[in-house]
Amino acid sequence: MSDRNAVFLQEMGLGPLWQRRDNPGAVHPAPSAGALEAATVDDGLPVAPGFDAPPAQEVARMDWAQLQASVAGCVKCGLCHGRTRTVFGVGDAKARWLFIGEGPGRNEDLQGEPFIGQAGRLLDNMLAAVGLRRDENAFIANIVKCRAVDESGRDRPPTAEEAAACMPYLERQIALIQPTILVALGKTAALSLLGLDPDTPVSRLRGKVHEFAGRPLVVTYHPAYLLRSPAEKKKAWEDLCLATATYAAAD
Ligand code: SF4
Repeated sequence: MSDRNAVFLQEMGLGPLWQRRDNPGAVHPAPSAGALEAATVDDGLPVAPGFDAPPAQEVARMDWAQLQASVAGCVKCGLCHGRTRTVFGVGDAKARWLFIGEGPGRNEDLQGEPFIGQAGRLLDNMLAAVGLRRDENAFIANIVKCRAVDESGRDRPPTAEEAAACMPYLERQIALIQPTILVALGKTAALSLLGLDPDTPVSRLRGKVHEFAGRPLVVTYHPAYLLRSPAEKKKAWEDLCLATATYAAAD
């Protein structure tokens, strides 16, 4: 464990340091040369008027630029009406690590980038603890690309229908990025990817390696939840260690 990573773990509120006994060195995934050379992607284009959403089969054939344009103009579900900007995702388009959250909140909707603000800073610290940066060797996406709000204008989780409508975009992102490992951040991401009952708690999904799109998937808590429940940060660190060991075995 380097001093730098120790600082990040401290930032996460995880001191004193904790390591897996069975794999104490597995905290530094080696970023691939291709990942470091790849272009950074940061899209949040305004809605293109008159642009309709293509069927899933068409999405499955798109290249990266076509996918970005399609998301920017998508009106496939009701979330298109309340959004300011779509949030395509951010990071290395050839990243070996793909982190998947729920959907954009208020700030993300305004700026067109996922995980802004306090939760975003915590996620960045979690990434740094395992040698990752969102603008270098990781990609961050969401289950839905548009902000979901309730009748009072407060953020809410997307419905199963909204998640299903948006899923072809995420599936195509995964097919184009070809990450080695997926990490689901929170309940909505985990349940949407695994197709599980909405009552399934995240705690039941942690500590094991799942599969999505033929790739290993590790489930951990959403950074916003960790901010509300700091005692759970140690469990998030355990999840990152599991993800790192899984990555090392798979890459
Ligand atoms: S959430 Fe996804 S499917 Fe719904 S309008 Fe936005 S981009 Fe389209």
